[in-house]
Amino acid sequence: MRIDAEHLTSTLSRMVGIDSVNPFFRDGAGDERAIAGFVAETLSGLGLRVQTFEPQPGRISVVGTLPGRGGGRSLMLYGHMDTVGPGDMAEPFAAEVRDGRMYGRGTYDMKGGLAACISAAKVLAESGTRLAGDVMVCGVADEEVASLGMLDVLAHVKPDAAVVTEATELDVCLAHKGFCWIEVETIGRAAHGSRFDEGIDANLMMGRFLAELDCLEKDLRRRPAHPLIGPPSLHAGVLRGGTAPSIYAALCHLEVERRTLPGETEAGVVAELQAIADRLAAADPSFQARLRPLLTRDAFEVAEDAPVVQAVAEAATTVRGRRPAFLGHSFWMDAAIIANAGVETVVIGPAGAGAHADVEWVDLESVRQLAEILARTAVRVCG
Ligand SMILES: [Zn+2]
Repeated sequence: MRIDAEHLTSTLSRMVGIDSVNPFFRDGAGDERAIAGFVAETLSGLGLRVQTFEPQPGRISVVGTLPGRGGGRSLMLYGHMDTVGPGDMAEPFAAEVRDGRMYGRGTYDMKGGLAACISAAKVLAESGTRLAGDVMVCGVADEEVASLGMLDVLAHVKPDAAVVTEATELDVCLAHKGFCWIEVETIGRAAHGSRFDEGIDANLMMGRFLAELDCLEKDLRRRPAHPLIGPPSLHAGVLRGGTAPSIYAALCHLEVERRTLPGETEAGVVAELQAIADRLAAADPSFQARLRPLLTRDAFEVAEDAPVVQAVAEAATTVRGRRPAFLGHSFWMDAAIIANAGVETVVIGPAGAGAHADVEWVDLESVRQLAEILARTAVRVCG
């Protein structure tokens, strides 16, 4: 299982050199086409059968398959190809290497992981031994915003197991939180600022709701915490109300983000907020609020004894000479979408720092080790 480190570094460097900022972050100027083309070409050059999926113009995802001889489990090695915007990063696309680190936007989140997936496929393709199950390398669009890419890939491709290579410092991630965005609007009545007898102040109504929301947030902290990812939480991310000091605010708009644990549902989260609105309306008939869920992504969890988890943990132990830790992450990943499709899923990725920050880097030796872990995992899973 000798990883071609030179090929790995040059593949990563070329991917970092391709600007693949999610179009959401730059008013449509970002483009995932070029990186999808590069990944497709690289995988087909290694002898993989390549499919591309384009649910919306330019939003391309790539799946390369190394076909098995039949009768084994299939494994998908996953990475997303889009990144967040460069922010104030000095050289976002230069892929500069210093002291064993590669710097640039997407090195850590997560072109390093994707490069390791490609390198694992390369060593398997060149080994000459054909596994029983298919090994797939999947590079998807739009993870950083709405997961268009992975949702579409799963409509066409359904592996038995998947390894998501988001960064974990080579430990094994078994859970991450989900989230639910909920819009809350309090409804007042506009009136001249002097006419207290006519106006209903939507902003003050929202104040009552926010005070109750604050109590709910403290209550969440007292609920039983998940052993790997802790307690659920919420915050009032967006708040907008009123038009001028001299006018009673007719409407106040709030967007709440609730971070969820495995097992929590959108319906349950909305019901907690609705109960607050109902209580306030019962106490004062002039209180009016409407609630609407905007976007929900589930939490993710996999059992420690799941075969793909055991395969990754054994491979990591072999490569690193010590047993990896099992951990959870607070932030959301496509892992939940893949697991929800019935695919046994685990997360392991390289070491580094600076996801979404102005200085981002990945440790190149950890990327090489990850590639070897992935190749060994494929042998165990696909037989
Ligand atoms: Zn990521």
